[in-house]
Amino acid sequence: MMFENDEVNLHTHTYYCRHGSGNPADYLAWAEKAGLRVLGFSEHVPLPGGLLSGTRMDIRLQPFFWREVEQAAAAFPGIRVLRAYEGEYIPELMNYQQELKEERHLDYMILSNHFLWENGQSRPYPETASPAELREVVRQITANIESGLGLFLAHPDLFFQFGCPWCAESRAASKDIIECAKAHHIPLEINAYGMRKKTLTDGNGVYRLTYPMRQFWELAGEIGGVEVVCNSDAHVPGAIMRKVPECLAWARESGLTVVNGKLAAELLKK
Ligand SMILES: [Zn+2]
Ligand SMILES: [Zn+2]
Repeated sequence: MMFENDEVNLHTHTYYCRHGSGNPADYLAWAEKAGLRVLGFSEHVPLPGGLLSGTRMDIRLQPFFWREVEQAAAAFPGIRVLRAYEGEYIPELMNYQQELKEERHLDYMILSNHFLWENGQSRPYPETASPAELREVVRQITANIESGLGLFLAHPDLFFQFGCPWCAESRAASKDIIECAKAHHIPLEINAYGMRKKTLTDGNGVYRLTYPMRQFWELAGEIGGVEVVCNSDAHVPGAIMRKVPECLAWARESGLTVVNGKLAAELLKK
């Protein structure tokens, strides 16, 4: 089975994560309108002990969530539905996430670093290009890639979101992340949710998107041989493909290889 890149979205949320809206059927209805043939539901992984529970699915609601996904999938036979969770880089919970992947019969996990994890809690990404902070960013993101848990790495340039400017240090950090992903054959995601969010003026006085970071993707193009996925990361049903064409254009303009279709074909072969 072959799919075009713009017929596949592998990163989708629902109201279950408590910072999104719409149920699985709503997303599938919009996906059908957008011409999607493959939709991956990738809710934020529910964590034990109520960790990050304000913005994550309640761990006890998993059976209800997956039943809703199954029922919705049956109502939209024209779309292939895949099962996933968007993980977190929390060293003490990598085994838990691996087990959950098997227990819930997931098709894949998404690698995500939404923050720095330190002493059992999350710390926001830096506002400046502090070398020590950037070293820690690279260490945690590359450890996540090397965990072997995920199919692709979501928004690898999210660490620019609070104002870290593009400079020699952040460029070097970006290069380390891109080269690690390339070496491990982990595609990098150009995330359309960032394109739908607010803008900022960064530490260099540059007015830009919080993420994705254009220079990051140009650098990936210069390095060459880097695979990318373009996903909407929709948190509302109507955003199911919003700004994804722009992500695909960035990939094309930087000479990156988009593998949405290829990943979907491989997952559905299993
Ligand atoms: Zn989210
Ligand atoms: Zn997400």
